[in-house]
Amino acid sequence: MRVRFWGTRGSIPSPGPATVRYGGNCACVEVRTSADELFIIDAGTGIRGLGLALLPDPVSAHILLSHTHWDHISGFPFFPPAYVAGSSLTICAPRHKDKRLEDVMAGQMEYTYFPVTLADIAAHLSYRELREECFRVGSATVTTHYLNHTSVCIGYRIEADGRSLVYVSDHEPYGMGLFRGSMDGAAVGRGLRDGIEHDGDQRLIDWIDGADLLIQDTQYTPEEYPSKVGWGHGSTDYVTDVALLSRARRLALFHHDPLHDDEFVDRMVEHCRGRAAEAGSSLEVFGAAEGQGLVL
Ligand SMILES: [Zn+2]
Ligand SMILES: [Zn+2]
Repeated sequence: MRVRFWGTRGSIPSPGPATVRYGGNCACVEVRTSADELFIIDAGTGIRGLGLALLPDPVSAHILLSHTHWDHISGFPFFPPAYVAGSSLTICAPRHKDKRLEDVMAGQMEYTYFPVTLADIAAHLSYRELREECFRVGSATVTTHYLNHTSVCIGYRIEADGRSLVYVSDHEPYGMGLFRGSMDGAAVGRGLRDGIEHDGDQRLIDWIDGADLLIQDTQYTPEEYPSKVGWGHGSTDYVTDVALLSRARRLALFHHDPLHDDEFVDRMVEHCRGRAAEAGSSLEVFGAAEGQGLVL
């Protein structure tokens, strides 16, 4: 299974000299199996670069949307293969109780927002509205899991080639009384390791179970999180503890805050590494960087 990050930023694109290494584009991850199934997780602005790299051929892919907040869909109208006849795109997202996925995707392409409507797209589009479930795509198995966000949101687990990747964005701790520590010293900051207070966190950990790569929303530091409770995003200590307790092999910090420059994300990565080392774990921690590729 091959993985490439095309967009790692949360909330809003944040290009500039201070974000060159981790990147300024919003959420998009390419996952390709050895049997050549293509999954595109989220369609933030990073999807444009992926699309350009895939030209000129038609593309057959499953686009797995965590949810339909702007930073996860606004790149879709700029995905060039959507305008290539012969492309076939299956757009997957969590089911809303009162809105069809097709209508949500068409909404951001109304004339008041964008010059081309969804109906004008050349690719064959199909839609799959998901709950917590499991389905096969060729050689791969995809499992979904509800996350704790301000809008209905799901994580994805992709298993293929004997490897597993889990994508958890956007998500905030269920047990929100915890994680009010500090980045000054890895030892500071209570967390899941001190006891799981909410069954939702345990369910998430059980689902991630031993993932070869865990990509998780780590927007905040422990200092920042208390003033952002309820915004639907994770923090360094929570995410590290989820990775440790679920025995993930590698952890990619993801959904970087637009206010965090490269040096700041470096510090967050170091903090998470310290917390993992303190627990005696061999967990590998890195900050997801735009353009970075991995082979699992
Ligand atoms: Zn987001
Ligand atoms: Zn969101």
